[in-house]
Formats: sequence, C-alpha cells, structure tokens
Amino acid sequence: MPIATVNPASGETLKTFDALGAEEIESRIASAAQAFRQYRLTGFDERARLLNRAADLLEQDAPEIARTMTTEMGKPVVAARAEALKCVKAMRWYAERAEELLADEHPSDADVRDTGASRASVHYRPLGVVLAVMPWNFPLWQVVRFAAPALMAGNVGLLKHASNVPQTALYLEDLFGRAGFPAGCFQTLLVGSSAVENILRDPRVAAATLTGSEPAGRSVAAIASDEVKKTVLELGGSDPYVVMPSADIERAARTAVTARVQNNGQSCIAAKRFIVHEDVYDAFAERFTAGMRDLTVGDPMDESTDVGPLSSERGRADLERLVDDALSRGATALCGGQRPKEHERGWYYAPTVLAGITPAMRIHREETFGPVATLYRVSGLDEAVAVANDSPFGLSSNVWTRDEGDVRRFVRDLEAGGVFFNGMTASHPALPFGGAKRSGYGRELSEHGIREFCNITTVWHG
Ligand code: NAP
Repeated sequence: MPIATVNPASGETLKTFDALGAEEIESRIASAAQAFRQYRLTGFDERARLLNRAADLLEQDAPEIARTMTTEMGKPVVAARAEALKCVKAMRWYAERAEELLADEHPSDADVRDTGASRASVHYRPLGVVLAVMPWNFPLWQVVRFAAPALMAGNVGLLKHASNVPQTALYLEDLFGRAGFPAGCFQTLLVGSSAVENILRDPRVAAATLTGSEPAGRSVAAIASDEVKKTVLELGGSDPYVVMPSADIERAARTAVTARVQNNGQSCIAAKRFIVHEDVYDAFAERFTAGMRDLTVGDPMDESTDVGPLSSERGRADLERLVDDALSRGATALCGGQRPKEHERGWYYAPTVLAGITPAMRIHREETFGPVATLYRVSGLDEAVAVANDSPFGLSSNVWTRDEGDVRRFVRDLEAGGVFFNGMTASHPALPFGGAKRSGYGRELSEHGIREFCNITTVWHG
C-alpha cells in the first residue's frame, strides 16, 4: 500500500511519501533506545508538564488537524474536531492521574511478615521502547490513547501509522516534539506493514500495541510471541445492540442511528447487529430505518454532513460484497443497499438496514466497516443472548432495557469487553477499553491501560 494522502471524497491523490529505508529505521530505533535511557529517570511532574503542554498545543491546533484528518480519511470535520478535543482530555487525565495510578504498593504487615521480609513493595517501572501499529479510523485518538499513558509511565513510542494517514502521523511526532519531549521519545516511522516484522524483532523494541484488523493482529502477535514480547491487541468488532420490550423505543432507535453511523460507520465499537425483541421489533425497525434514511450523506468538510465517504475504494468494495452476498441469499434492504446515486465521485455508500439475516450469510459473522446495519428478530432473553454471542468478536455490547433481571443476565452472559445499558458504547479515559474473543486482548485507558506496558516489580528486603 503506498504511503499517501488520497482524499476519499474525490479519490484524488494529494500527496505521496517515500517509506523510510533500513538505515533511517535503524537510526530511529537507536534514537528511541537512547532517549529511553534518560527519559525513564524523569519524574511524574516533568512528564505531566510535557504532556499538558502537548494537550494545550493540540487544543490550539484542533481546527487545522481536524481538516487534515478529514482530508486523509473522510470523517465529518465536526467529528474530527471532537476527536482532537477528546485527545486533549485524555492527555490531561493521564498527566493528572498517572502518579497515583502507578504509585508503589505495600502489602499488609501480616503478608510482608509471612513472606519472611522486613519490608516489601511493588513498583511499576517502564518497559522501554513500545511499537504502536495504528489504524486510520480515529487517526489521532487511537495513537493518543496509547501514547498518553505510555509516556506518563516512562516508556517511549515508535508509531507505525496506517499508510493512508501520513500527514496526521507526522503531525503527532511534531506535536510531542513541540511540547518539549526529548528527541527520540515519540517518533513516527513512515513505513509499510512489511517493515513491522524487523522492527518488532529488534532487541531494542520491548513491546507492541496494535489496533486494527484481525489478520494484522494475528501477524504482530505471532512475531511478538516468537520474541517473547508483550502485546496489546485491539481488533475488530461486531457489537450487538439489543432492544428489549421495556426499552424506551424512541431513544433506542435514535441512538441506534448514531451508534451505527458514527465515523461513517467505520468504528470498531459501532453497534453493528441490532437484535430486537419481537414485541417491539416493528416499532423499532420503522423508527431506526427512518432515521438511517434521513441522514445527510455528503462532503465531510461540510459542517452539516452526517455521513461522509468510506476511507478507501477497497473498504467500500469489501462492504458492497458483504451486502450483495446477503441480498443474494434472501436478506431485504429496508433502506440503502447501494451507492448513493448523487455521489459519483468519492467512496460513498448509502446508510443501509438489512433484515432477514441468516447464519448462511457472510454478514452474519463478518464485521461491516461502513454504514450498514443488520436487524434480527428474537423471541426472548435467551435468544437475544445467544444471537448476541454468536459472533467471533467480543469487543463491546449495548442493551436497552429497564428490567433489572435483564440487566443481571446480560452482565453475566454477554461475551464482550463492555456492556453499555440504555446508551451507546464510548471510550473514556477512566474506563478500561478492550475486547474478548477475536476482538483482542489487553486493555487500554484507565489504570489497566497504563499498567500494560509496565514491569510490575516485586521488591523484597530480608
Ligand atoms: P489494518 O489493515 O489491520 O491496519 C491497521 C494497521 O496495521 C495499519 O497501520 C496497517 O498498516 C497495519 N498492518 C496491516 N497489516 C499488517 C501486518 N500484516 N503486519 C503488521 N502491520 C499490519 O486495519 P484497518 O483496516 O486500517 O482498520 C480497521 C480495523 O481496525 C477494523 O477491523 C476495526 O474494527 C479495527 N479497529 C479496532 C479498534 C479497537 O480498539 N478494537 C479500534 C479501531 C479499529 P498499513 O496501513 O500500512 O497496511
């Protein structure tokens, strides 16, 4: 895949970049390793000062970097600005909390005596150079949710960003540099995915985090496990959105539209499979379909656009194949099901609702990365849980109900890294984020995220 900015709204190639050669990669890894030797000795106050400075700069830059993101991957510019400000918030959150989250721990006196020690403690020490392989869909947020905790913990980062967001990738390196982080603490490597193996096998690289597709995750995890290096994997999702009879149907249907089409439908935690109790199925399906049909599809730079183009021609072709397969096997399109006629240029796809899904259809098991929803009718709680869990993925889940019995069952039985009731899944610095099953392992955000790339060190005194 060439490293280039190609505008998804027009298909036009705006700027291409040469990938780094072997010598440049070597010198950047050396610079990261060198930086870590000093940076690991800095205190939390100093790291927080630098990260807060980065947050202030990003806040100022938000309108401009938002336009860059929109140009590179097509998200509505309003959402791009919100993404930049969400990053600002996460940076400030970790700048303020890291010291407390990574404070030394002291077992009870009784436990210490039982180990035969005069004293004992647990320390969170940084691992070193962490390689971050990141996707284009939230090109700032995915990186910052790794970088803010990693830098606060005393690690340094090497970013291999997706090949279609090179300008956003370079902006991030520039941002951390302008904030005052020492040279080598955060570097962007403009390289294709074939360069990842050698970088990851380099003994100076301690660990890796990857957000992206299952094949990319499998490849990076296999190499890392061969090298016995720690990984965190944030992979695909096909989140269920369950609507039970006690739900507020108006709100459930309205939120369902946003939950499905956020980021032009290209979000790992977008609700993708809508599983509705038969008692409220018709009422929900009618409102949800009307909401999807009413969305404004258009130029993502336009402030009033709800849904812009997909990020790439290949992404749209993949989505079309999934929809066409379902239609050819008997699914019904309640709306959409094709490219919008009014957009000849660019990689647009009409917001789509498909009903009558069966397990024989690819769409039943695969992730739809675009504004396409599948609808299922179920007869009760057991069937709702079974359909929700009938997926290789287990990222997050959404349930609409006012029944406490339902709540207990879904919390106990849904195979996912999150269960969001009467709302839609969203990430927040204070809440752990990550998946089960083929959606990956490890957690980002909260105290769980910042501890992933720490050497949890036991200190014992005889
Ligand atoms: P992708 O093709 O896997 O790309 C993600 C990153 O991995 C890019 O930097 C890509 O580089 C790199 N890559 C691809 N194949 C690789 C390989 N074999 N070895 C090493 N690196 C490799 O994913 P995408 O299509 O950009 O992103 C969409 C996927 O990400 C969806 O499945 C979505 O659900 C998932 N996602 C998950 C989360 C989460 O938090 N769980 C968040 C966002 C997205 P190139 O661009 O150079 O190919």
